[in-house]
Amino acid sequence: MPEPRLSMTFTCTVEKCHTRSTHQFTRKSYEKGIVIVQCPGCKNRHLIADHLGWFKESTEDGKLKTVEDLMRAKGERVRRGSISDDGVVEYSPE
Ligand SMILES: [Zn+2]
Repeated sequence: MPEPRLSMTFTCTVEKCHTRSTHQFTRKSYEKGIVIVQCPGCKNRHLIADHLGWFKESTEDGKLKTVEDLMRAKGERVRRGSISDDGVVEYSPE
């Protein structure tokens, strides 16, 4: 049985962007793991949920500065999650 997915409409917080986009991710990632969405307008990534504290020190106003670096560092675990076509990166713990 596929995991239930949540759909969320996100409004970009970047000045002069404010693009609205809709993203889907699993409830498990949202409630227990990591969810990052990419704005289709400015391509910035935004942290939606971080229950594991991976990004605590690398965000500023919810906008990720070093997500690529962090994903490299956590690469193996992030690949066990998923990266979807609509720019969502999600990871849920076992
Ligand atoms: Zn944007």
